[in-house]
Amino acid sequence: MFNIVLFGPPGAGKGTQSERLIEKYNLVHLSTGDMFRLHISQDTELGLKVKKIIADGLLVPDSITIDMLEEEAQKYPDAKGFIFDGFPRTVAQAEALDAYLESKGQKINSVLRLDVNQDVIKERIAERSKISGRADDDAEKLLKRIDEYFNKTIHVLPYYEAQGKVTTVNGIGAIDEVSERLYAAIDAVK
Ligand code: AMP
Repeated sequence: MFNIVLFGPPGAGKGTQSERLIEKYNLVHLSTGDMFRLHISQDTELGLKVKKIIADGLLVPDSITIDMLEEEAQKYPDAKGFIFDGFPRTVAQAEALDAYLESKGQKINSVLRLDVNQDVIKERIAERSKISGRADDDAEKLLKRIDEYFNKTIHVLPYYEAQGKVTTVNGIGAIDEVSERLYAAIDAVK
């Protein structure tokens, strides 16, 4: 298996690039944001529990997120690998993911960090908010999400750097250009 964490702030292009990577490398896309949105749209118990937290741009508690992620990953016993998109967002999640993969005889092979500056993030999300219908894409909620990123999620990087797994990829430019950079980064460690 080849397991990738696609890491970056909101609006870095993780979702868009994940779609490219799953096709090229035949991987399963695990996006915790997409999973939560599906739960919310279906009014599940979990969806009702997390709806306000997400609309406010805050992180969902680790235990809820980890349980949901593991339950989803279990559905793909034959996967050639996973792309984790939007997960882990805290060090506790990163530790839980390592423990989970280890229990399956697996590990994270590569952490690809999409590097984009805050001005680009804000521009991209302002554009996306026109069509995404996401309550958390409005300007005020976006600031909260960026805060959460810099307060909690950024600490995931040193965790993986200590394991020598992080490659930083320039996330600015055309979608195709960024994809090519990601392919090169993956092929260098594969
Ligand atoms: P995303 O689509 O990845 O930007 O996620 C949308 C929202 O879902 C985030 O702003 C959080 O409220 C929640 N969320 C997604 N992934 C996680 C995670 N790994 N941990 C906690 N909350 C998450």
